[in-house]
Amino acid sequence: GTATCGPTTPTPRSPGAALLPVVGASTQVPLFDGTTRTYANLDYAASAPALESVAARVTEVLPLYASVHRGAGYLSQVSTALYEASRQTIARFVGARPDDVAIITRNTTDALNLLTGCVPAGGRVLVLDVEHHANLLPWQRLDATVLPIEDTVVATLAALERELAASSYALVAVTGASNVTGEALPIADVVRLAHDAGARIVVDGAQLVPHRGFSLEASGADYVAFSGHKTYAPFGAGALVGRRDWLDAGEAYLAGGGAVREVRAGKTVWTTSPARHEAGSPNVIGAIALAQACEALAALPAGALAAHEGRLRARLVAGLEAIDGVRVFRVWADSADPVGVVAFSLTGHDPGLVAAYLAAEHGIGVRDGRFCAHPLLARLGAPEGAIRASVGVGSEVEAVDRLVAAVRTYVTAGP
Ligand code: PLP
Repeated sequence: GTATCGPTTPTPRSPGAALLPVVGASTQVPLFDGTTRTYANLDYAASAPALESVAARVTEVLPLYASVHRGAGYLSQVSTALYEASRQTIARFVGARPDDVAIITRNTTDALNLLTGCVPAGGRVLVLDVEHHANLLPWQRLDATVLPIEDTVVATLAALERELAASSYALVAVTGASNVTGEALPIADVVRLAHDAGARIVVDGAQLVPHRGFSLEASGADYVAFSGHKTYAPFGAGALVGRRDWLDAGEAYLAGGGAVREVRAGKTVWTTSPARHEAGSPNVIGAIALAQACEALAALPAGALAAHEGRLRARLVAGLEAIDGVRVFRVWADSADPVGVVAFSLTGHDPGLVAAYLAAEHGIGVRDGRFCAHPLLARLGAPEGAIRASVGVGSEVEAVDRLVAAVRTYVTAGP
């Protein structure tokens, strides 16, 4: 080709193409018949592939890293600066207010467990039965009230309002987007109900943050938790971001080095957040990688992420619903604007067998089972489980069309 200097016009993306390049997009996987095929990754909601820019960043900083916070050497100073700058980037990405704190955790589960130790003593927690176990079981340790959702968003918000009026709660824990159906309650409304009743709110952003983006400041929510491995970064780094007072008053999440100001015989003085909750050597590379992913997502044009996933989701749902015997699950009849996560079942067919067929015959990666949301699956009338397909920035129309065609073949011709 010809090399050009000076301004160039970006090549327009074809409508079915990925929004951002991810690593492994051309990975070949073995099929049952002995051939191979390009992997159709429709499992972004479980763990999303890393962005190419994230992989490049990891390669770039690996040679630089050294123990943070305590080392005097040059590389320790560089590492510390990179780690703390990453914290700021991650905080900015979720719209942290100036006084908010960002704690680097392992993932969403870790972040929510951390927060359980910071709810003021005696404060009660309210949670809905739509939640992933990560946003249910930690609160149950605090004896939380689990409120059953209703068939519509309007009725669910009314039930929430009634419960908040009937009893006093310190915290409402709610999902930003369901990991099963992609649906969500309007967060600003839940924030208003919680705050009107004197409660705080934590948003489980595991799906919402990577699939749509989220702002603490714009929504008014008090805390958000999310996972790097679902946000186009490697496993092992996530974040809890939100109001400082509870985090500084709560018990240190882990006891150990870095979380203390002073240790004398018989007396330990814990330091403030974020260090208070980050004892031990932190996941420096994980935080840097997650920050890079946040920057790449934040640089997308406004609405591009929602438009990309919305197009793919609509095509997937329309394709699946046109097949006899396929049921696409919805929690609420009136929910708006779900993220790119779709759960479905095939009448008379075991979800596990269908998922295995899709992998072995078509090179398609989906998830089956109950998605760590047993109460919700029971509520949806699928206590035995379902199949979930999910998309993200690296997804292309080809994978969606391949899944729809494969499901049609399965239903009409049998495995
Ligand atoms: N919450 C939701 C809505 C999820 O989809 C997940 C994913 O597994 C989690 C929490 C837990 O995330 P992690 O396994 O990264 O802690």
